[in-house]
Amino acid sequence: MRMSKMYMKTLREVPAEAEIPSHIWLLRAGMIRKLVSGVYGYMPMGQKSLLKIEQIVREEMDRTGAQEILQSAICPAELWQESGRWQAYGPEMFRLKDRNQRDFCLGPTAEEIFTDIIRNDVDSYRQLPLNLYQIQTKYRDEKRPRFGLMRSREFIMKDAYSFDRDEAGLEESYRKMYEAYEKVFTRCGLTFRPVEADNGAIGGSKSHEFCALSEYGEEEIAYCDCCDMAATTERAEFRDAAPETEEMLAMEEVFTPGTKTIEDVCNYLKMPKEKSIKALLFKVYEKEYEYVAAFIRGDRELNMTKLINALGVAEFNIEFADENAMSEATGCVGGFTGPVGLHDCKIVVDSELVGMKNLCAGACKYDHHLINVNYGRDYTGDIVTDLKLLREGDPCPKCGAPTKIAKGIEVGQVFKLGTKYSEPMHAYYKDENQQEKPIVMGCYGIGVSRTLAAIVEQHHDKDGIIWPMAVAPYHVIITLVNGKDQAQVDLAEDLYQKLLAAGAEVILDDRDERPGVKFKDADLLGIPVRITVGKKAADGMVEYKPRSEASAVDKTAEDAIASVLAAIAEVK
Ligand code: ATP
Ligand code: MG
Repeated sequence: MRMSKMYMKTLREVPAEAEIPSHIWLLRAGMIRKLVSGVYGYMPMGQKSLLKIEQIVREEMDRTGAQEILQSAICPAELWQESGRWQAYGPEMFRLKDRNQRDFCLGPTAEEIFTDIIRNDVDSYRQLPLNLYQIQTKYRDEKRPRFGLMRSREFIMKDAYSFDRDEAGLEESYRKMYEAYEKVFTRCGLTFRPVEADNGAIGGSKSHEFCALSEYGEEEIAYCDCCDMAATTERAEFRDAAPETEEMLAMEEVFTPGTKTIEDVCNYLKMPKEKSIKALLFKVYEKEYEYVAAFIRGDRELNMTKLINALGVAEFNIEFADENAMSEATGCVGGFTGPVGLHDCKIVVDSELVGMKNLCAGACKYDHHLINVNYGRDYTGDIVTDLKLLREGDPCPKCGAPTKIAKGIEVGQVFKLGTKYSEPMHAYYKDENQQEKPIVMGCYGIGVSRTLAAIVEQHHDKDGIIWPMAVAPYHVIITLVNGKDQAQVDLAEDLYQKLLAAGAEVILDDRDERPGVKFKDADLLGIPVRITVGKKAADGMVEYKPRSEASAVDKTAEDAIASVLAAIAEVK
């Protein structure tokens, strides 16, 4: 491609809303363009990199025996009603009506469509196992679209679905996909970590997320240096200490004026936060109860995912309670709520509190707390479960060593679904004995457009992007320093033709611009190799500079070609 002909607009300034490097650099390099909040278009360079990622995904999927199809993004509501997700998916789903008032959605994922295909086409065990996938645009009306391609409302996903006869078959399909994901992200040049994950709205029994490590990642990962524990903190279990053995003392009400926070009351009573109980109050919808009070140790953080799972409530059907409204209904008192004296609400108690003795809690009375509160004797929970968020330094749930925390970008996730969709949607097959059995399913997603952003997040410097060769829009850029010098023009042209003939993807910067401008653009675009044709052109010499290195080396034109081709061959 001749740069003088290329449709490209780089930017010197980007909107303030671009906060993280990938968003800033993709905009500045003119690779993506915003249409409206959370909706982006891909410009020529961005589209080229995107297609390369898609191709890597496609190759690794095909290698496992999965077969590519392409389904519509518009899906009739009936399918989602059958699986129960028309309601359960909530406001994240883009819904629309046709001219006859029939309901549709723009697919946020496609379990229903793929299950529907299979239930119509498969009826014998001989047709299984199967794995079908597509690379397709998905729609989610995210609450907070942000960070450009990272969390957008329209994005490109590879979604695969496996169909097996039984659990053992699913285990094998899951393993194959897991390994294919490792290959995909390695080929994309990402530093990543597979971690155990929560199943979320998709459902099912087991899941792993693939997280590209990055300080701007929205996913928090707990891991251990002493064992193989690695999980999202949403998912990570918490290891409770052994029950305390001290004697239970008599519960007492104490006057604690103005102490509305754990901090205040513990300072006032001169007791450690570890000896207090913290209350968190919620309102829920579409349940037989309206209010929830969750209790955890005063110094702990609530893990919202664990609470949501324990209640079996959808994420969009729970919110912090309006304390005044809740006070009338349940007897809670803002800042002074404890588990003793509450009524008409679901009480969820963290498992750790059960073994602890003589704690301090709100008295459900203004300016008062209770001390020496004990589980079993003074209060109980409707649900007792682990509600805690694992923090840096907490004991590893597997081996007890101090836990470490890192941030990551979820670029892919694999799920064991089991029969969550096949049973309600009646996707059954007949086994060897003509017995009807539900097909056992798995599903596997890769955020293709998010992967593009994650790559930039991990590969940039102060001047722009540094594409790994495998996903670079072009392999090499030839910078012609002086377009009026015939020797330079001839050598640049010769290099260009030879590289093209050898199958390289080449940009020839033949623009009538100062060399400084050309160098800046080459760095901004992040083309992995720059070959500068300048003063030494008459001697057949050029400068060769990998984008990732600080300085250039002189090479003969032939050597430069050989080096570029070798670098390309490494990732082929
Ligand atoms: P998140 O927790 O980040 O919202 P998710 O777990 O809901 O994602 P999945 O349903 O697992 O997402 O979708 C498969 C993949 O699609 C994700 O691993 C992620 O890479 C990508 N993805 C999901 N939501 C978005 C989005 N809003 N923008 C871009 N990519 C997304
Ligand atoms: Mg996910």
